[in-house]
Amino acid sequence: MISLNQKTLALPASGIRRFFDLVLSAGHDVISLGVGEPDFSAPWHVRESAIFALEKGFTSYTENAGLSELRTEVSRYTGQDIYCPKSEILITNGVSEGMDLAFRATIEPGQKILVPDPGYVMYTPLIELAGGIPVPYSPLDLDSLRNTNANAIVLNFPGNPLGNTFSLSELSRIALLAKQHDWTVFSDEIYQALTFQGEHTCFASLPEMKKRTIVFDGLSKSHAMTGFRVAWACGPEHIIQGMTKIHQYSALCVNSIAQVSAIEALRRGENEVEKMKEKYLSRRNMLIERLDKMGLSFTEPQGAFYIFVQVPNKDDVMFCETLLRDQSLALVPGSAFGEMGKGHVRMTYAESMETLSMAMDRLEQFLSK
Ligand code: PLP
Repeated sequence: MISLNQKTLALPASGIRRFFDLVLSAGHDVISLGVGEPDFSAPWHVRESAIFALEKGFTSYTENAGLSELRTEVSRYTGQDIYCPKSEILITNGVSEGMDLAFRATIEPGQKILVPDPGYVMYTPLIELAGGIPVPYSPLDLDSLRNTNANAIVLNFPGNPLGNTFSLSELSRIALLAKQHDWTVFSDEIYQALTFQGEHTCFASLPEMKKRTIVFDGLSKSHAMTGFRVAWACGPEHIIQGMTKIHQYSALCVNSIAQVSAIEALRRGENEVEKMKEKYLSRRNMLIERLDKMGLSFTEPQGAFYIFVQVPNKDDVMFCETLLRDQSLALVPGSAFGEMGKGHVRMTYAESMETLSMAMDRLEQFLSK
């Protein structure tokens, strides 16, 4: 019989998935604010470009690093000509693959990597698979970064699940620490286009940071293209070349049709992104108002499409289970995002205003009992 190896056996199932198996068994009346995925379809002109590419028979492998036209568009989109399309950009199957490649290409066994807590569920397992040791820090308290002997740090801003971002002075503080401790910086900026307060600053654009930083961004969230699986990693040439070696053995390249659509999205998708962003912003404002009225505490979101709310009775798993049973409303327990997420729940506002409003009615009713 085939058996799983120890590393795979030791991997925990995602806390989000585990909870959503429960949701699936809960019936059809359930409102779910659980999945971190836009409720919009990809813009029509982007879908149309995929149809044209198929019609034209664009069905072969592309360059391992991705179509050169796409890398040129990524370089322009990332701004300020920071990255050379020929040597410093790799097109990946989502930020998920990009970060996996980066961890596998750079982490030595036993190295400590600072990860946000609460933070996105992918970082810890992928770092462990790469042989590293994740060390949690709070993205809301940069003092938690002092006195660590880590080799690298994962940044995520705007962040999932907190919806937080970093001001320029906070980024400069992190940059100073990165210099002092000689950190590699894995900067997950997948929500950068959905920044509501102030301008997003790419971490690599800070003085002296490009040489130690790998930046990740993609089209899943900003352009509502989760299923296309197109993203990119940008970094120093030797790191991108190393990641490309692993990518060429494990994936060869990203789907050719999806890459053509990505070019279209980056060239002509800006208006659609702005429209979706406006919708997210008004939904966010509505949620803030409703949650405030219910007397709940939360981190005010500055970007992405999540709001992280403190639950009254501290036990987030029990809170979510009871809420699901009593009101058919599904939220994600904060503990799925790390130790420091305990006592909280994550709600996504990538849902229609009508659905969100009904969800808030149910939550209000639940809390009034
Ligand atoms: N990074 C963060 C912070 C996310 O929230 C997600 C998806 O939810 C991802 C990366 C994965 O993105 P992709 O679809 O590009 O793999």
